[in-house]
Amino acid sequence: MPSCREGVRGVYGTSIKQSGSLRTEIGKLMPTELHHWINGQKVAGGKSRVGEVFNPATGEITSLVPFANEDEVKQAVDVAKDALLSWSATPPIQRARVMFRFKALIEENMDEIASLVSSEHGKILDDARGSITRGLEVVEFACGIPHLLKGDFTGQVGTNVDSYSLRQPVGVCAGITPFNFPAMIPLWMFPLSVACGNTFILKPSEKDPSCPLRLAELFQEAGGPDGVLNVVNGDKVTVDALLNDPGVDAVSFVGSTPIAEYVYSTAAASGKRVQALGGAKNHMVVMPDADFDQATDALMGAAYGSAGERCMAVSVAVAVGESAQPLVEKLAPRVSGLKIGPYTDPEAEMGPIVSKGALERIKTLVDAGVAQGAKLVVDGRQTTLQGYEDGFFLGGCLFDDVTPDMDIYKEEIFGPVLSVMRVPDYESALKLVCDNPYGNGTAIFTRDGDAARDFTVRSNIGMVGVNVPIPVPVAYHSFGGWKRSMFGTSNTHGMDGVRFYTRIKTVTARWPSGIRQGADFSIPTLK
Ligand code: NAD
Repeated sequence: MPSCREGVRGVYGTSIKQSGSLRTEIGKLMPTELHHWINGQKVAGGKSRVGEVFNPATGEITSLVPFANEDEVKQAVDVAKDALLSWSATPPIQRARVMFRFKALIEENMDEIASLVSSEHGKILDDARGSITRGLEVVEFACGIPHLLKGDFTGQVGTNVDSYSLRQPVGVCAGITPFNFPAMIPLWMFPLSVACGNTFILKPSEKDPSCPLRLAELFQEAGGPDGVLNVVNGDKVTVDALLNDPGVDAVSFVGSTPIAEYVYSTAAASGKRVQALGGAKNHMVVMPDADFDQATDALMGAAYGSAGERCMAVSVAVAVGESAQPLVEKLAPRVSGLKIGPYTDPEAEMGPIVSKGALERIKTLVDAGVAQGAKLVVDGRQTTLQGYEDGFFLGGCLFDDVTPDMDIYKEEIFGPVLSVMRVPDYESALKLVCDNPYGNGTAIFTRDGDAARDFTVRSNIGMVGVNVPIPVPVAYHSFGGWKRSMFGTSNTHGMDGVRFYTRIKTVTARWPSGIRQGADFSIPTLK
């Protein structure tokens, strides 16, 4: 297996640093060459299929990432299958100890990991640290794996017959993750999967692969045996190779809805266990009795934090009755005054968009909103930053008078664009939420306990907040949407994660007492 453990050669033939790109004398950035991580080693990967990784704040290419082909994926699957034999037989308490060390290493290296997230995604450092902490919580949950794997036991299900169930690993698991949380979402998946005794192949987003590669190194440093956690970088070819490889037993996917649906149907058709989380359009209902200052603060963070590139971002504010006017009046100056900057600016509240393509797509949708008659109260399309003219920056945009037929309502924009929709009453707000094809998250802001309770019961959405705008469940609950935000039956992490990454085996046992039962030709009923 080709290894580049000690460093790789730069694309332009010059030797380059692993931990950061170098500049030539004329100031041109020399991109770092990234790698795969297979069997506890950096593996260079072929040169024929390579992706460019950008610093979204400067627009510069900082790294080149190899895209694995079918043979390289097969190599990773074979390694994961080999490692499964001893790892699945390792006592859960020993697997938990690896998790404890891994948790400590993530904490020790928090700043470095946050920089890797921010430099390739663009989000501000505080936000990156917060997302890593949310992933760390799953590692903490996985530290309790001996307890979580405890099965059930019933004595005397019949005379001298006992029954008990075991949770056993599923086998080789694959995780395919999106760009917007390069630490948190891989951490939703592999720590729990490997703690359950599986081995894992992670295919992170090709837009920000450096953080997942670093996490794999830390897992090894924590005592994770070679081959238990592997990272293959790539695109659709790589994903398809994982979905079609008979050696892969389970697939966890998080990303956009069309790809989630494709991954779900393709992997399920080849007999794999699949959980596939998709896109979102999250509504926050603001009732006339809400605290408008609190609701405005909540909307600012939930709509514009991480430049709106969160699956739980609020992209629609549903203003009920007379709440619309004060809400828009309070929001407008706050959106115009958003501090936009690169992640290196400690004052910045919002960074750039992840890529030029995504920036153009968002601007096109904003144009469509204007053309289709929505009122653009704050227009961030012309935003540029001095010294960062080539960065992918977009100012916050605020629309009012948005209606359900408009593209800005129908599409998941995934950018810093908030649509205010005016409805006459609570029932109309609830209907809007329930009629939307997505069902990831929603929230209600109110002082009325009755309205809040009704909303939590009747909304057909997977995660609901009451005066909490981004109700992302903690690690020991589970995360997942309804409707077109999720395909499959199992949420991620929490006990749903344990169930997804294990198979139940139920044993019914009788120890012969010397009394023969004789042959029984009817279905056994224990007496
Ligand atoms: P994406 O669907 O484009 O990519 C996700 C993953 O799928 C990546 O690893 C990518 O390489 C791979 N992929 C892309 N196209 C593919 C194809 N044609 N065939 C096979 N694999 C393919 O998503 P993204 O742009 O990286 O992330 C943003 C999306 O993810 C948004 O829709 C967001 O709502 C969603 N998301 C959902 C959740 C959730 O929990 N529901 C969380 C985060 C992000």
